[in-house]
Amino acid sequence: MPDVYFNPHVASLPKYNAGLGPEAAQAASGLKTIARLASNENPYGCSPSVSKALEAVEPWRYSDPGCHRLRLALSEHLSVSPDKLVIGNGSEEMIAASARAFLRPDATALTVSPCFGLHEIEPLAVGAKVEKVPMTPSFEFDIIGLERALARSPHLLFLPSPWNPVGAALNHKELRRLVSATPDSTMFVLDEAYYEFTSEVIPDGLSLLRESGRPYIVLRTFSKAFGLAGLRVGYAVCSSAPIARMLAAAKTPFNVNASAQAAALAALADPGWMQGSVRQIVAERERVANRLRQSGLRVAPSEGNFLFVETGRSSECVARDLLKAGVIVKPWMETPYDSFIRVSVGTPEENDQFLGALLRHPGASEPAVSAKASSARYDLGLAPHA
Ligand SMILES: *Cc1c(COP(=O)(O)O)cnc(C)c1O
Repeated sequence: MPDVYFNPHVASLPKYNAGLGPEAAQAASGLKTIARLASNENPYGCSPSVSKALEAVEPWRYSDPGCHRLRLALSEHLSVSPDKLVIGNGSEEMIAASARAFLRPDATALTVSPCFGLHEIEPLAVGAKVEKVPMTPSFEFDIIGLERALARSPHLLFLPSPWNPVGAALNHKELRRLVSATPDSTMFVLDEAYYEFTSEVIPDGLSLLRESGRPYIVLRTFSKAFGLAGLRVGYAVCSSAPIARMLAAAKTPFNVNASAQAAALAALADPGWMQGSVRQIVAERERVANRLRQSGLRVAPSEGNFLFVETGRSSECVARDLLKAGVIVKPWMETPYDSFIRVSVGTPEENDQFLGALLRHPGASEPAVSAKASSARYDLGLAPHA
């Protein structure tokens, strides 16, 4: 097909690196037990009340395009009026909708680097430019660098806190500084996909932004702490109803399917299950981080359900070696972070499988694998951004 049909913005997009499935690790390792630590999913599953709710879904009926029941439940949960809430097919859809609604060709979006792939891909897809402010050498947000970039009035800011893949989260003072450095003409999008994992010292960005009186969008999701990644449901909390209407106009009408709406309602009604799993994940996160640090590796402090680890080798090689031991992680391919891997916190067994595979042969190019496994051919499907 001649290129003339291609939208050049779409044709030149970097590929989103979605992480490998278990089949690739089974083929590479010859093992049945695979530790899936590449996508920040909840290793404990989801609330048992979700399966019951799914049984009552009527697949032959269109889903509610306005997600009324879910918006009402969230409205109570967050003390926000329902007309400021937009539910998405995952919060990733709300990232795309934000770019469509608030950016035009040649506009500028600002984010951080290493970045969450979609915070770059979605602005590029609408023809905008993306500026990225790198993390500091101590794995923190470069507040001064961000303030400088914000002074140039980008049209939109995608700010992840906690920061995927790094793990850092903005404290009260830092978030306040960035909020006051952001011109009113900049749409402030705070992506709190990992909000439920944060400690008490990390502010609720929604409350802080609400106090500021400025325009904003806060993104949250049922994919991570609530364990509904496969059903695709996330949401945007907007500072005003007109902003919510703009976002809603930029999505497809029946974007959230009936199973996703029913599951999210059930998950939200069982906060105890979510909190229990979060406690275990946070405890494991600290155990894994400490073990890695004891072995001399640099690990960024994390407020999420993942760790960003400097391996001292090519991240692609490390990921390949781990795959041969049945462990799937995400190698970072964005220069200069290409010796980092991002590993999700799994169950204690999965984490031990990861630690064993990574630390048994620190710096070794030969991982412990059977001859059969090491001769298996597999495609890592790696691309920059994740
Ligand atoms: C996982 C993630 C999301 C997207 O989650 P959905 O499954 O689409 O709700 C959004 N932002 C960040 C930073 C993430 O890590």
